[in-house]
Amino acid sequence: MPRTWRAPGRVNLIGDHTDYQDGYCLPMAIDRECRVTVAAPSGPGVRARSAQIPGIVDVAADGTTEPAGVEPPWGRFVAGAVAACTAAGIRVAPSDLTVTSTVPAGSGLSSSAALAVALVVALTDLADAPLDRIGLARLAQDTEVRATGVPAGLLDQMTALHAVPGHVLLLDCRSLTAEPIPLPRSLGVVVVHSGRSRTLVGSAYAERRTEVEAAAARLGVAALRDATEDQVRDDPRARHVVAENARVLAFADALRAGHTGELGPLMLASHASLRDDYAVSTPELDRAVALLMEHGALGARLTGAGFGGCVVGLVQRNHGDDVLAKVTRALATVGEVDPLAFAVRPGAPAAEVTPEVGAAPPAG
Ligand code: ADP
Ligand code: MG
Repeated sequence: MPRTWRAPGRVNLIGDHTDYQDGYCLPMAIDRECRVTVAAPSGPGVRARSAQIPGIVDVAADGTTEPAGVEPPWGRFVAGAVAACTAAGIRVAPSDLTVTSTVPAGSGLSSSAALAVALVVALTDLADAPLDRIGLARLAQDTEVRATGVPAGLLDQMTALHAVPGHVLLLDCRSLTAEPIPLPRSLGVVVVHSGRSRTLVGSAYAERRTEVEAAAARLGVAALRDATEDQVRDDPRARHVVAENARVLAFADALRAGHTGELGPLMLASHASLRDDYAVSTPELDRAVALLMEHGALGARLTGAGFGGCVVGLVQRNHGDDVLAKVTRALATVGEVDPLAFAVRPGAPAAEVTPEVGAAPPAG
């Protein structure tokens, strides 16, 4: 009997490029997800197909397939998950996997972590491996690092594993804790694609990491989480990280206190800092933020690592459709026909999808 696991994508409301310096971020799992269905093996190894990308992926079940050589390239996540599990002492049985996802790929909504988390929750559940949510997040991170070579932080995986419906999460990337905070019912979150897709591989992501690691070493602190604004005044990269951590905490305080008027300006300050100090924005991302603000959003910023992909907007929930329609029209007039633009709601955490009780058996 095939079994299915799911993991959500995410949107980060504030707090980017802070996770790998032990900092804070405030993401929300979204109501779009990746599903992995595991069925009996048709061959000696792990075979996988994706509903969104053509081709068949075949990797050895013993973790010996080197991810970098796997074609089609998305299969590197499968090889990465098998290798990560094997390295953690978790046996992977031969099986056939089917992947399908409603998280648009390469848009900054973390379709990659949704895939990696769905794969590791499936493989570890099947092996009865007793991993907690942090262990699973680390295993999914290891999967993605093996698959892409990009030294990404834990933000996306932690979000997919700790999500609480109706809530955003205040993540502390040092203690690895996630505090759920209710998203006020009056507020909505929208996502607008900038018109340019992004990729972390070959981008300045690794370079930024190296820059801020050097800044922390210069200051003699374990991570920029421990630095003060005074200490980083003359270093724009480090200044972004320190100021962004403060903005995340202010955003969380404002949410808890119901001071929703403070949220938008904090998001705009975050975008400006990512653009000017951290230099990870693009003209298309800046344009999408400006259009959202022009058409009634309360706040907007690039989300995820930057370098393209989506921006996130905070809206009065009952204005969301109107804002999206206006921004979509405005983007069309500058040549972005049919841009990806939609509302998201806080989604549920990664888990096995239990078959519907009493569901009719398949016909035939
Ligand atoms: P993001 O995480 O922002 O969506 P990434 O470049 O990190 O962008 O991840 C996108 C990659 O994740 C794709 O190139 C592919 O390798 C993998 N991926 C995402 N969704 C799917 C899917 N439905 N099927 C197969 N692979 C997928
Ligand atoms: Mg990704």
